[in-house]
Amino acid sequence: MKIIEKYNDSLHNPYWKYQLGPEAYEVKDTPQRVKTIKDRLCQDSRFSLITAETYPERLITRLHPYHDYIRNTAESLKDNEEFFPDLFPGEGAGLPRRVDAPLQGGLWCTDAVTPIVRRTYDVAKASADTALTGADLLRTGRERVVYALCRPSGHHAGPRVFGGYCYFNNCATAAEYLINSGRVAILDIDYHHGNGTQEFFAHQKSVFTASIHGDPAVEYPYFWGYANETGIGQAKGTNHNEPLPKGTDLEHYLQGLNRVIDAISAYNPTFLIIAAGFDTHENDPIGGFALQTADYATIARRLALLNRPTLICQEGGYNLDVLGDSVHAFLDGFIS
Ligand SMILES: [Zn+2]
Repeated sequence: MKIIEKYNDSLHNPYWKYQLGPEAYEVKDTPQRVKTIKDRLCQDSRFSLITAETYPERLITRLHPYHDYIRNTAESLKDNEEFFPDLFPGEGAGLPRRVDAPLQGGLWCTDAVTPIVRRTYDVAKASADTALTGADLLRTGRERVVYALCRPSGHHAGPRVFGGYCYFNNCATAAEYLINSGRVAILDIDYHHGNGTQEFFAHQKSVFTASIHGDPAVEYPYFWGYANETGIGQAKGTNHNEPLPKGTDLEHYLQGLNRVIDAISAYNPTFLIIAAGFDTHENDPIGGFALQTADYATIARRLALLNRPTLICQEGGYNLDVLGDSVHAFLDGFIS
């Protein structure tokens, strides 16, 4: 299986000024996450690394109205600076939609935990290019299953705002790229609901979105991810949420997963995109499920039965001791 990567080094490595201290740092989106995954996969000769291609900026700008804001803010910073928005005007402020100054970032970002540093734009663009390269390999029939080692993650970045460590939505960008070649289903298995992805396609029936995640009544992102969100207007019936309680183990997880798989089968997509987060592991510092490393192989084997050209994009997963093995188990389950 091809592992697609690009810029997976320390270029986007914020100091996280709002989360000082080594313990807090461990649970953030550090570059070590990618290194851990890559090191583990490179021990297995069935996986080979390739570098992502560079795609036109318009594939990002057409989806993300805050593209220029992120790029301009990043370019305005010095090497060791990081910028967090800390004023959020709210939807009711009636402000002009185009506001691009760094200090007005609260219009584009949902939170104060998604910093921009000097190279954030380059790395976020490269992360989207990684997903697009995978989409191209599927579209042209050169590969049947590929893994895009994306960082930063993308699934909390939506059509209005970014946030939650995410800048550009990698899966949504890949899906938009694929829909001229067939219907697309995106399944999000990160512990946190894929609110950005859902919002991108809430009105669009050409992309089916599904997410299996911690109950948003008690887990981020709180405002979205409930079972009654099923799509809007003509897209009614093309979104499926499976919120599960804290402590969910494999047995109960598979019950939810089976419902999701049934919904995707009924939709009959040409392509499948999996937003693969591993913060569902029992030892993850910010997740709340009780999945174990080997469980990811079981989950992947079920998803592989959908038998579609599949793009697997990396999302969350923050325990460096189990992340590499979890990703490996998942990919192994998919192809074996
Ligand atoms: Zn997550």
